[in-house]
Amino acid sequence: MSTFPKSKLLSSSADSPDFIPFALPDINSDEEEAVIEVLRSGWITTGHKAKEFENKFAEAVGAKFAVAVNSATAAMHLALEAIGLADDDEVIVPTYTFAATAEVVRYFGARPVLVDIDSDTFNISLSEIEKAVTPKTKAIIPVHIAGYPVKIEEINDLASRHGIHVIEDAAHAFPCEINNKKIGSISDFTCFSFYANKTITTAEGGMICTDNPEWADRCRIMSLHGISKDAWKRFSSQGSWKYNIIAPGFKYNLTDIAAALGIVQLDKAEQMRSRREYIASEYNKAFSSLDSVTLPYSDCKNVKHAWQLYMLRIVPEKLRLSRDQIIEELRKAGVGCSVHYIPLHCHKYYQDKYGFNDNNFPNAYAEYKKEISLPIYSSMKNSDIMSVIEKVQNILLSNAL
Ligand SMILES: *Cc1c(COP(=O)(O)O)cnc(C)c1O
Repeated sequence: MSTFPKSKLLSSSADSPDFIPFALPDINSDEEEAVIEVLRSGWITTGHKAKEFENKFAEAVGAKFAVAVNSATAAMHLALEAIGLADDDEVIVPTYTFAATAEVVRYFGARPVLVDIDSDTFNISLSEIEKAVTPKTKAIIPVHIAGYPVKIEEINDLASRHGIHVIEDAAHAFPCEINNKKIGSISDFTCFSFYANKTITTAEGGMICTDNPEWADRCRIMSLHGISKDAWKRFSSQGSWKYNIIAPGFKYNLTDIAAALGIVQLDKAEQMRSRREYIASEYNKAFSSLDSVTLPYSDCKNVKHAWQLYMLRIVPEKLRLSRDQIIEELRKAGVGCSVHYIPLHCHKYYQDKYGFNDNNFPNAYAEYKKEISLPIYSSMKNSDIMSVIEKVQNILLSNAL
């Protein structure tokens, strides 16, 4: 089929063909065939496949409604639009997250109120949320960092006491459960990502889950120009040429090509998750004896961990090298790593706009300084896992203090 040098494309930052990249999608001939079928069908954008993906995804997470969109960023934007966010409002967001979680609040001119995290889990701190609530607070966007669920029931209790909405950024959290409840079935909205390095992928894609039919309708309409009828109905045999614009919407619909990929990925989501769980357990076993690192928080009592990330932390006092130097050593040894995340309050835009400095959220900053994300994806071979373990051990042991 493809004549592209695959390993070159996927590990463009490294020179060696043995380089283990930080992330890789798990895609094989099932996905290829599903995509080709759509390409040959004559209907390549939003249509029956997108609808099928929505129905299957809603069922998988226990939500009444699922609206497929082209990113989690779009999903969160639409959820905030559906609750009527306005420029004078505030939305509580953890500082320890990706750009998307807060930028969607800025789309409305509203204020993302950043709060600190719990050091053990990297997840937003419940007590810090409580302190951040004001009469202007309209919503909270908690993030399940690495796929380890936040205390979402407590957050919902707090939110309903204050009359505010909960929109989960579940970009890392599929499949994921807490106290036998699936992430996707709990809050007002749950937004998932199917970006290339997420737990299931459609290359680019996202899903909004909600149990509220009006919100689901609003998100669907606004995902396609604010037009009151789905375009695919317009162009199908039951449709007509008539349409009505009820609001200035967006262009966030998911293509059938992407949805076909998503349907296949959804089928193997649990299988891929258990492979990541296995990788995490191998890493934990191997690194538990090193006193220069701490293992990711993984008290999995009443929790199904999605293991989207394996977040190792160094103990700086025990090492001659900095975190950044260790990442560089690993890269040279052929292991791609990353850091999740540079807290939002450390970025220029948020510092300029809101006067933050690096020390404003001490837990987030301290954990960020220690964090190294190791490769954890289901297409890793056993030899890849062994190789990562060996190289991490070598570099840490030979630089121990
Ligand atoms: C990936 C990610 C997003 C954005 O997802 P897209 O589908 O790329 O828009 C949002 N939040 C977090 C925490 C993420 O990791």
